[in-house]
Amino acid sequence: MAERSQLVLKQGKEQSLNRYHPWVFSGAVKGVKGPELIEGDIVEVLDSEEKFLALGHYIIGSIAVRVFSFKNETIDQSFWQNKIEQAYNLRKASGLVDDESTNAYRLVHGEGDYLPGLIIDYYNGTAVVQMHTVGMYLIRDTISKALQAVLGDDLVSIFNKSEGTMPYKADVEPVNGYIFGKSSEKVALENGLKFKVDWERGQKTGFFVDQRENRSLIEHYSKNRDVLNMFCYTGGFSFYAMRGGANTVHSVDSSERAIEITKDNVELNFPGDKRHEAYAMDAFKYMNKTKGKYDLIILDPPAFAKHINVVKNALQGYRRLNAKALEQIRSGGILFTFSCSQVISKEQFRTMVFSAAARAGRKVRILQQLTQPADHPVDIYHPEGEYLKGLVVYVE
Ligand code: SAH
Repeated sequence: MAERSQLVLKQGKEQSLNRYHPWVFSGAVKGVKGPELIEGDIVEVLDSEEKFLALGHYIIGSIAVRVFSFKNETIDQSFWQNKIEQAYNLRKASGLVDDESTNAYRLVHGEGDYLPGLIIDYYNGTAVVQMHTVGMYLIRDTISKALQAVLGDDLVSIFNKSEGTMPYKADVEPVNGYIFGKSSEKVALENGLKFKVDWERGQKTGFFVDQRENRSLIEHYSKNRDVLNMFCYTGGFSFYAMRGGANTVHSVDSSERAIEITKDNVELNFPGDKRHEAYAMDAFKYMNKTKGKYDLIILDPPAFAKHINVVKNALQGYRRLNAKALEQIRSGGILFTFSCSQVISKEQFRTMVFSAAARAGRKVRILQQLTQPADHPVDIYHPEGEYLKGLVVYVE
């Protein structure tokens, strides 16, 4: 085994690692020992007395190391394969792998699977892999072999979609494409509903599997309601609402392409159903003209805050959006509202919804509090991993 570089921390900076938090910030680093460190290298992290703490991938940035092991062990094919296998076993334990009505799930969720920098979504035979660190990108062949070994016949192809996810200025030029097999089968099943997943051109890995259970919940609230699915992307919430017996369902997204896919997906599940209409339009522009039109509104916007510095502005954005929906919704209406910003806490989100209600002059009560499903596990030592927050509120 090649000699590894060692990164020595300043005194006192080992505390978070002793609590198994998987990040080392660059400000915590005192110095480097051993071979010259290159981005993507596996590095040993030592405390100020040079006692071993952890192993991880070295990154040039405010996070200097993302840790994947707290043991001083050999990192080889079987190490990574074992991690992927553990991840697979967790999905099996949560009933997702053997669920006949669902074949789309997240197989690897970064820190939540002790694999920081790696996201893998599985869609009916295809694993879509997204690397967020150079270290993970460099071992893509290893990851590919591990996936083949763990998934066996359930794996037809692996699509690498890391073009837009590598750190800024990283010295690699990833190209999106298949790294194993090839697949033209792009329809996956979720709770018995069909979805076209465009991993080659769509956002993220092509589909938002994290809303599976919340979409399913919509079904139970939809009967005889007039539904607005705002920020619909590929239309997920819409056809659950249709299956739940909604009166009408309107899907809105600013992206023309998203609206096209939404229409295709509705057609796949409810051919010719006149209850559904879809519009490519900006959220605020659309909602300005919807006074009293809907009694079930879903707001699932993109992350308004990607960084801690912009939390305040993001909260204002969320407040404005929620206030608008709360002003417009019919009385007795139900609002499903979400934030997928990692840096916004559950408390901040809830306070924001309450102040939006006050601004809109509506009385609201929380019916349910929502989060991400079991295939997006939260490492208890890395609470930042709990990124999806949602509330179902009843509006008088
Ligand atoms: N609810 C979806 C996921 C939403 S992702 C699902 O269940 O799959 C967020 C979506 O918001 C994206 O599709 C993006 O195109 C859309 N979006 C971003 N800004 C917007 C705006 N100003 N108005 C309307 N849609 C917008």
